[in-house]
Amino acid sequence: MPDNQELPILEHLTKLINHGQPPELNKTLRDIPGLAELHDQLIQIREALFAFSSGDLSQSMQSRGFIAGCIKSLQAHLRHMVWQVKQVEQGDFTQRVEFLGEFSDAFNNMVRQLHETLNALQKKEQALEVLTTSLRNEVDLRNEAMDALKESETRFKYLASHDPLTGALNRRSFFDRALVEFEAAAIRRIPCCLAIMDIDHFKIFNDNYGHLAGDATLQHVVKIISHVLRKSDFMGRYGGEEFIFLFCNSTIDTAGHIVERIRETIATSPIEWEGRALTVTASFGVSIAPAEKIPADQGFIDELISIADTALYEAKKAGRNRVVCQKVS
Ligand code: GH3
Ligand code: MG
Ligand code: MG
Repeated sequence: MPDNQELPILEHLTKLINHGQPPELNKTLRDIPGLAELHDQLIQIREALFAFSSGDLSQSMQSRGFIAGCIKSLQAHLRHMVWQVKQVEQGDFTQRVEFLGEFSDAFNNMVRQLHETLNALQKKEQALEVLTTSLRNEVDLRNEAMDALKESETRFKYLASHDPLTGALNRRSFFDRALVEFEAAAIRRIPCCLAIMDIDHFKIFNDNYGHLAGDATLQHVVKIISHVLRKSDFMGRYGGEEFIFLFCNSTIDTAGHIVERIRETIATSPIEWEGRALTVTASFGVSIAPAEKIPADQGFIDELISIADTALYEAKKAGRNRVVCQKVS
């Protein structure tokens, strides 16, 4: 049976261990040798354990002894574990916890799995990057091929519709466009004129200065004519040194003036060839289709050509370098 002094001690220590609020050490108990130190030690242990239980590992304990030693050791382990978790957070997946039994196993497995998942994700990301790059390359190649195709299509269309020497429309394209213009003219009841141009004595020109000079002259002639033509007019290479024109919405006076200007421009614009200024002239036959006479068909165009041809023949016969106009009767 405990005596009178032991009971309050026992009671005080029980409260220290079990009560939420630690008991005060009264004067009588303070005088009992060693009890004040034990009281302080237990208070420190309580405070340390309370701090741990609320997640605070920063408490430093001065107490010594077995329980304090165990608490310090636990505190050191937990602190180290916090540090390890931070290391894992920064990408160090070699961290392993060894002191917490099942928790250690779970933690270590989690880190291992995290590492494996991350590795797998990285591999997938790399594969995706490779795929994206190769897709991008493929798209670039396709775009380049499309551009090249469009370019060659444009080039092909140009070559198919233009005369390679002079760049004028070729015969077929000229007639395609002429037919469209005549159809529009027929609907709008507007007059149109057709003209044929033939360079004078071009055979002699070739004989005198060479075929290359002849080629350059044909190019030169087409170039200077293009500066004289209105936007609505157009020309084509009819064959050899002959060219054909369509003047849309042109009366006899307008077409006559434009063709006369073309004739004059050719006659007064010599080409520079091997240090010499070479001049050619051209003769023109113009046929005029009044609005009321225009049916939009190839037969009508052929008729206009035939009339222009006759007019051209007359221009040649009359001495060349001139314009002869003929109306459709
Ligand atoms: P005319 O005044 O009666 O029209 O006489 P011409 O000599 O111009 O007529 P002809 O039909 O006798 O000769 C046409 C010449 O045009 C012959 C041909 O060599 C030349 N010619 C046709 N096409 C070309 C070409 O693309 N380049 C060159 N250099 N000459 C050409
Ligand atoms: Mg000719
Ligand atoms: Mg000729």
